[in-house]
Amino acid sequence: MDDPLKLPESFTLDHDAVSAPFVRLAGRHVLAGGGEVVKWDLRFEQPNEGHLEMDTVHSIEHSLATTLRTITDAVVDISPMGCQTGFYVSVDAAELDDFDVFTEVLARGIQTALELNTVPGSSRTECGWAHSHSIEGAKEALAGFLDKRDEWNVIYGEERA
Ligand SMILES: [Zn+2]
Repeated sequence: MDDPLKLPESFTLDHDAVSAPFVRLAGRHVLAGGGEVVKWDLRFEQPNEGHLEMDTVHSIEHSLATTLRTITDAVVDISPMGCQTGFYVSVDAAELDDFDVFTEVLARGIQTALELNTVPGSSRTECGWAHSHSIEGAKEALAGFLDKRDEWNVIYGEERA
């Protein structure tokens, strides 16, 4: 008999119980060679109620991948969620596992992204789907997310109708 499947942490999250937008510590991975990586869940849209358009997701990914790395070397990766409701940001836990510290970096990264005139790395040679970008969509979504920064620490909302 095969081993049972090992599910990602997010598959055990009750997606009906959460209240977007939020920023959630979604996992901690101890590296065999020492050190730890933590994964942050940046949720822009309410699961199963809203989603970002793919070109917007793509441009946010490119923008934050650039602006967050410009601020700190502690960012390992930023990945779009396939459900198009948010992103995962994996970071060096030694520097960015504290909510207040991480969200300060995140807010600065978003502010810098809002000042961009072009999407970084969006030319045909730099990107695998260069046609699928929307800087307008990315800025609108990022501005809306940043506007609700005071809600980022509230992951589970009131019972919704
Ligand atoms: Zn790309």
